[in-house]
Amino acid sequence: MDLSHILNHLGEDRERYFGAVAPPIVQSSIFAFPTVAAMRDGFRDELGHHVYTRGNNPTVAILRKKVAALEGAEDCLMFGSGAAAVSAGAIACVAGGDHVVCVARPYSWTRAVLQDLLGRFGVTTSFVDGTDVANFESALTDRTRLIVLESPNSMTFEQQDLAAVAKLATSRGIRTLCDNSWATPLNQSPIALGIDLVAHSATKYLNGHSDVVAGALCGRHEIIEEIFKGPFMTLGALLAPHDAWLMIRGLRTLSIRMQRIAATSAEVRAFLEAHPKVRKVYAPFASDNPQVALTAQQLRGSSGLLTLELDARDVAAVERFCDGLKRFLMTVSWGGYESLLFPVAAVHPADAPLQPPGALPLNLVRLSIGLEEPAVLIRDLEEALARL
Ligand SMILES: *Cc1c(COP(=O)(O)O)cnc(C)c1O
Repeated sequence: MDLSHILNHLGEDRERYFGAVAPPIVQSSIFAFPTVAAMRDGFRDELGHHVYTRGNNPTVAILRKKVAALEGAEDCLMFGSGAAAVSAGAIACVAGGDHVVCVARPYSWTRAVLQDLLGRFGVTTSFVDGTDVANFESALTDRTRLIVLESPNSMTFEQQDLAAVAKLATSRGIRTLCDNSWATPLNQSPIALGIDLVAHSATKYLNGHSDVVAGALCGRHEIIEEIFKGPFMTLGALLAPHDAWLMIRGLRTLSIRMQRIAATSAEVRAFLEAHPKVRKVYAPFASDNPQVALTAQQLRGSSGLLTLELDARDVAAVERFCDGLKRFLMTVSWGGYESLLFPVAAVHPADAPLQPPGALPLNLVRLSIGLEEPAVLIRDLEEALARL
């Protein structure tokens, strides 16, 4: 993959816009045609023409080309959020009476679309421990149409053997959708392993600047066209041209951001693993991860999420630690230039679907490592751990 070409040049047809190095934001809802025949062609293939920005827009199209190339996919659709991308992918694959198999602890709104929204239309979902491929096989029924994966997931980082699940699904004519937000296309390539659809919360690392909410869905032409004509156009969860432009800018530094984040995360993880007040560090590359062989098989590198299990007597101690961190912003989401913390203890158990069943322990705190100096983050963590 010619990464720097994809990030900096692919899809940018500069001769069409005065040689401008930064692409224009084509801030237009509609596109006009010179003749009836041209308009007819546009309607016949809306994905291949510019008709209406709910469908296709030239600035968004630049971004689609880049994200598709990063994932090694034939095509990509951009959405106004990662949740919209996952929802559109799932909705496109099922009808009333069908069955879905999903990993046990997906992103909360992925659970919500399968269980609550599609559940209202007669689609049933089985949630299974995805660390063992046999669990997918035993959950299949003759109405299973889709397997939803998230490898690793974004709190405790369980992984699925993507090649093995893809092989099982393909042999039964079942589609697979994998959320690849944690790894980014730089560190994991689900399509090369046989997965049909790859979803991203592009809000996270792909944009990387905590200023855009966006989603991506990548796959073969024929599935992407089916999703375009179906849920994409009907739900209307488009990415606005200006947000696409910001994302094109964010993507330019994806590779150096991820290198820096991986290096800092490794340092922070080593510090935390050795600290007596930290019972466990969850991360795919953690030294005690039972899935170490799978990590080596399908992940090329780390990103910057780490979840700590604190040796805390009570929730008040967890709060002292969290409130004491000065270099981490306390908030939802992750994947930006700035370091963040997300305490599980901040989620009230009644706030479903934010909290999945089999709730996570209250002494878990997730860190998203940003671009700060590693020593600064480590000193901050050291001081906050002393308050436990
Ligand atoms: C944030 C997130 C999503 C949803 O993305 P939005 O852009 O917030 O809609 C989906 N999957 C994972 C793993 C996430 O972390």
